[in-house]
Amino acid sequence: MKAHINLEEIPMKEKDEDETMVEEFDDEQFQLEKEEINTSAVKKKGKEITINDLPGIGPATAEKLIAVGFGTVMAIAVATPGEIVEACGISEAGARKIINAARDNLEMGFESGDQILKKRERVIKLSTGHKGFDAMMGGGFETGAITEIYAEFGGGKTQIGHILAVNALALESEKNPVVVYVDTENTFRPERIKQIADGKGMDVDAVLKSIKVGRAYNSDHQMLLVDKIEEMITEQHLNVKLIVIDSLTAHFRAEFVGRGTLADRQQKLNKHMHALLRLADTHNVCVYVTNQVMAKPDQFFGDPTQAIGGHIVGHASTFRIYLRKGKKGSRVAKLVDSPSLPEAEVAFYLTEKGLQDI
Ligand code: ADP
Ligand code: MG
Repeated sequence: MKAHINLEEIPMKEKDEDETMVEEFDDEQFQLEKEEINTSAVKKKGKEITINDLPGIGPATAEKLIAVGFGTVMAIAVATPGEIVEACGISEAGARKIINAARDNLEMGFESGDQILKKRERVIKLSTGHKGFDAMMGGGFETGAITEIYAEFGGGKTQIGHILAVNALALESEKNPVVVYVDTENTFRPERIKQIADGKGMDVDAVLKSIKVGRAYNSDHQMLLVDKIEEMITEQHLNVKLIVIDSLTAHFRAEFVGRGTLADRQQKLNKHMHALLRLADTHNVCVYVTNQVMAKPDQFFGDPTQAIGGHIVGHASTFRIYLRKGKKGSRVAKLVDSPSLPEAEVAFYLTEKGLQDI
């Protein structure tokens, strides 16, 4: 299958379809859920418990839950009954019981401002290697958050993924940091990593060994790979500091074509974004996702493009950046959404070494 889709090939109708979905989607509910995941206290009461300790989970059920990424009490506590039913085929009442038991075993609820401030102190900012870009992001790409970049082909989304990967591994505050790179378009290039790491005088072999690349062949596989990251962190004890999903939406877009399938696509994307948000929040990981744009044919003023995935992707992303081509081969990154930073723009060149000033 050809992973790249030219903008010209996009049916004009798609825009309307995406907007229809946005109407039907309960934004408020999603925001509430997002808040809950972001702010829920996750300190365990007393000793560590595992999912096997939860009432109603036998070995067979546990195995099924682990297989689809519900391997921790935390993952179950923030799951919906529907997700648990789907995962292990038990009744909805049973699923609720398991979820409630998981919640009882975690102190979930409200946190005071000072507790959240304390949690904010653990935030690490990954550098783009460009002063202006970092400044626009308040110091860099944050851990504990999802940062989405949308741009047309050749915009520089993948380049930025490679640069962030190397810079995450250069973090001095971290012991043996690890990067997980989910590659859906077969555009991860170890040679490019080598080039960037070499430029920074890093140990290239060590850098390459610390990047775990998962090639996703379809959207289900992509979601499964993300489930595996939980295991890498909790079972293999890897110090994952950056997760790159490049591209977040390409498979979803290629697989779900036509109006009838759009609701399914959005629902699946929603689940995927939630899984990423959960990883970012519970394990203090920086999640960087790339997104495509599509033509917005009825837009006469401003930029005639918009990001794929509608509000589902937009709302789940903590930071959104629109990247476009500027004058003389430069690129312009615009911060279009952020919880506490002003809208701003920065221009740079993509060069062999990374991002460079105009
Ligand atoms: P996207 O992922 O948004 O489709 P890419 O990140 O692949 O875009 O960006 C491709 C562009 O990056 C190329 O057109 C080129 O300008 C630049 N680029 C890629 N590799 C290098 C390199 N080694 N040195 C300088 N520029 C590069
Ligand atoms: Mg790319």
